[in-house]
Amino acid sequence: MFEKFINEVEKVIDSKQLLTSKEALLAYSLDATRLKSMPKAVFLPETSKQLRDVIRLCNEFSISVTPRGSGTGLSGGAVPAKGSLVISFSRMNSILNIDTINLIAEVEPGVITANLQEEVSDQSLFYPPDPSSAAVSTIGGNIAEGAGGPKALKYGVTRDYVMGLEIVLPDGSLIRTGGSTYKNVSGYDLTRLMTASEGSLGLIMKA
Ligand SMILES: Cc1cc2nc3c(=O)[nH]c(=O)nc-3n(C[C@H](O)[C@H](O)[C@H](O)COP(=O)(O)OP(=O)(O)OC[C@H]3O[C@@H](n4cnc5c(N)ncnc54)[C@H](O)[C@@H]3O)c2cc1C
Repeated sequence: MFEKFINEVEKVIDSKQLLTSKEALLAYSLDATRLKSMPKAVFLPETSKQLRDVIRLCNEFSISVTPRGSGTGLSGGAVPAKGSLVISFSRMNSILNIDTINLIAEVEPGVITANLQEEVSDQSLFYPPDPSSAAVSTIGGNIAEGAGGPKALKYGVTRDYVMGLEIVLPDGSLIRTGGSTYKNVSGYDLTRLMTASEGSLGLIMKA
């Protein structure tokens, strides 16, 4: 069954984006908790289309998925579910836009937290969330964990800085939550629901 799934996956991505060697799987089998469970394979998406195509196949073949940033989480969320496909966002790591007028950054989930802090600092701006893992952790992981560091006392935590998200749902469909204005208040607050949901509800593809 899993082999058939992998054959289908290889039709929609470059084979270099799929890791199946024992050594590679070992590297993705744990996070900072040191809990451990071997995944079946690791997928490194580079585009939203690839991500959605593979998620559709996961849905079709009933393959569970474990999203992963840098694996620094301390709640075991990136430890692979048994027999799952790990989706590592390390290659979706672009800062897409920094709007210096409206003070909004658009980023892919694999952006390293410290890189965003430095980029905005170069433009005399300030991104406050500062988990101590910032030199390694990703924005996607920070959002999925609701991370915050010492500056939280004065400035709040990651969730206070997430205005909107693009999320891939388990069937491969895409939803956009929130928006670029604070007065975006009607309807359910799906952005907050996703924040700190530890990858259990969908994949954060853009923030
Ligand atoms: C040395 C150290 C210091 C730390 N300091 C702090 C601190 O000061 N404050 C604090 O709050 N936390 C701290 N942490 C824990 C903190 O939660 C993580 O470091 C960070 O937020 C996780 O980011 P990551 O990219 O490593 O995510 P990972 O560990 O890879 O993943 C964390 C969770 O996010 C999910 N996830 C990752 N990417 C996505 C995505 N794109 N879509 C959906 N789900 C996703 C994973 O499935 C998992 O459930 C620390 C950890 C370490 C090891």
